[in-house]
Amino acid sequence: MKREYLIPVKPGFGGFDEPYEKADVVFLGVPLDVTSSYRSGYRFAPARIREASANLETYLPSLRLDVFERLHISDIGDIMIVPTDLNATGERIISVLREIISSGKIPAVLGGEHTITYFCMRAIGDAFLLQLDAHRDLREEYMGDRLCHATVIRRVMDFLPRERIIQVGVRSCSKEEDEEFRDLPKTYSSEEVSRNPEKVAGDVEREIGDAPVYLSLDLDILDPAYAPGVATPEPGGISSSDLLRLLRKFGKLNLKGFDIVELTPPHDNSIAAFAAARAAYEILGSIASKKE
Ligand code: MN
Ligand code: MN
Repeated sequence: MKREYLIPVKPGFGGFDEPYEKADVVFLGVPLDVTSSYRSGYRFAPARIREASANLETYLPSLRLDVFERLHISDIGDIMIVPTDLNATGERIISVLREIISSGKIPAVLGGEHTITYFCMRAIGDAFLLQLDAHRDLREEYMGDRLCHATVIRRVMDFLPRERIIQVGVRSCSKEEDEEFRDLPKTYSSEEVSRNPEKVAGDVEREIGDAPVYLSLDLDILDPAYAPGVATPEPGGISSSDLLRLLRKFGKLNLKGFDIVELTPPHDNSIAAFAAARAAYEILGSIASKKE
């Protein structure tokens, strides 16, 4: 592990740190906070999600399992951000993630702004990207920036075929994004999810099959009522219970890693932080339920 790129954090996610060597799942904070076009504060997000995680049950009644009994979970702390050099920060993210992945562990990344998903996908390589997001993030550039929270999935598309990207919860995009990407990447609107989360999840499952998949959860998929503390709130979103229903079904997928991004604690009253931590537990539960 490239410890020189990391700032240790105690206690880690859930409060039950296990040694990295034993871990099935490895939490990593990436408090990247540089490209917000509106309001900011992502840098505080990993700490707030960890704090919420320590104040939620680790037992999932729906699965009848305790994630910390079934899984070895380690938290290696936060990536040391280079504030004025996005690419240098990105190289650190890629290097640490590659090390986690190459030892057969599942990275659980706590953002940070959505931009980090570009670097995560470069480390993950060939896999489906399942993006849960109010936005499509497919702009070629945004306010002169080619790599930022509004263009991140377009940059992923520079190396990942658009057939490999599935967007769920979408309800906002530019005219250009709509016209150029009407057919692919495939999208499911937030209205479709609200109507029947299990159906959407089932369709996605059929599409992905057994292929490896990386899940990126942009918390603005939630209605602002359920997640006030995000950088770009978008009304008309899904409820936190719809999100958990989706994640419960996505647990059947061959998950190679996941991130939870876009929380801005200065605008949150801890509602979104708790939603983020609860979502992480739901994903961990799914991973745990597949482990013998
Ligand atoms: Mn978004
Ligand atoms: Mn996004």
